[in-house]
Amino acid sequence: MEKKPFVTKEKIEEIVKTYPTPFHIYDEKGIRENARRLKKAFAWNKGFKEYFAVKATPNPYILKILKEEGCGVDCSSLTELMLSDIVGFKKDEIMFSSNVTPKADYELASKLDAYINFDDITHIDYYKNIAPFKETMSLRYNPGGDFTLNNEIMDTPKDAKYGMTKPQMKEAIKKLMAYGVKHFGIHAFLASNTKDNGYYPKLASILFKLARELKEELSCDIAFINLSGGVGVDYKLEEPKNDIDIIGEGVRKAYEEILTPAGMDNVKIFTELGRFMLAPYGHLVAKVIHEKHIWKEYIGLDACAVNLMRPAMYGAYHHITVLGKEGLPLDHMYDVTGGLCENNDKFAIDRMLPKIDIGDYLVIHDTGAHGFAMGYNYNGKLKSAELLLKEDGSVKLIRRAETPSDYFATLDFTEFKK
Ligand SMILES: *Cc1c(COP(=O)(O)O)cnc(C)c1O
Repeated sequence: MEKKPFVTKEKIEEIVKTYPTPFHIYDEKGIRENARRLKKAFAWNKGFKEYFAVKATPNPYILKILKEEGCGVDCSSLTELMLSDIVGFKKDEIMFSSNVTPKADYELASKLDAYINFDDITHIDYYKNIAPFKETMSLRYNPGGDFTLNNEIMDTPKDAKYGMTKPQMKEAIKKLMAYGVKHFGIHAFLASNTKDNGYYPKLASILFKLARELKEELSCDIAFINLSGGVGVDYKLEEPKNDIDIIGEGVRKAYEEILTPAGMDNVKIFTELGRFMLAPYGHLVAKVIHEKHIWKEYIGLDACAVNLMRPAMYGAYHHITVLGKEGLPLDHMYDVTGGLCENNDKFAIDRMLPKIDIGDYLVIHDTGAHGFAMGYNYNGKLKSAELLLKEDGSVKLIRRAETPSDYFATLDFTEFKK
């Protein structure tokens, strides 16, 4: 079995006549179909809404597609808010889930009338001096301890900088009620890139129980529960794959067990998925420009870690397809590298691939989320273009590649030109 790219060698050969490699390309059809599957899986909840985590793929054309599919946006910075505003997201379509938040960010979030999700109790009075409260305010929860699923530790909230303790959540709600806030949202993000259909249901039951307790104790109205991000994708072919229908059903079961009997069956479910919405629907396409035979066999690409940081940063696996050689035996072992002066600039280490030749095009899979977005300019390397493969098969440039003048744009050279 192979991970199948959504573009063929012929298609790439046609595209590179106009847009040279490297570039990220996104699959509109895949994005739309997946967004519809998510919506369907949670259709049992009347108020369900996905707020796409803008940080995963901050491109207005991608945001517009998701908006057309009924999604809102989850922002965590000033520029993400600005981008969402430009694309036309309004008020309750924007969730502002940030931490260590500067004043200017709160000002814009308030001006856009977005939902604001406070990361900490101390932010309430900080915010009070900046902008008025909305009728509904949201709070981020950190239960501490380890987060376990099926007796396995999935993550360690006790070491995470996000959210408030339970006593702080209660204190925060009392404070906000005194300031006139009428409705509350609660939010938590307890594990990242999960590949177990049980993650959201387990998280949901923690938050549903908390919501019930808060309501009983403080008589506050809980308007929504935000399950945030964390549903993962199978970067490796042999990894388990999440089934969004099973996940949606699992959350429904917890809802009916915990919230419905407490008379809380008008609580809306929100999500802030990033990776699940986009990762599989993006490829980084690069060309082989060098090969090198020393103690190991190296393949050198025209892309490097500035175009996709995950392998260098976390040793993350990204599947690679050599276009046009899909059927050939994987009988060569390579390190596939970029040109940074950093030895961790490797897209793959000891990877079995078909024999690669200079000029071959490689698809690096699952780069649609946290791919281009994490880019940087180390070694003076430039960020690539982003392309959209539209449903009709045509290709649209949705971000041009950087040029040296973009790289130098923040420097003033006048005094060197005398
Ligand atoms: C990063 C992030 C997300 C999205 O996470 P994924 O793992 O991409 O689903 C959602 N909400 C918040 C607050 C985040 O920081």
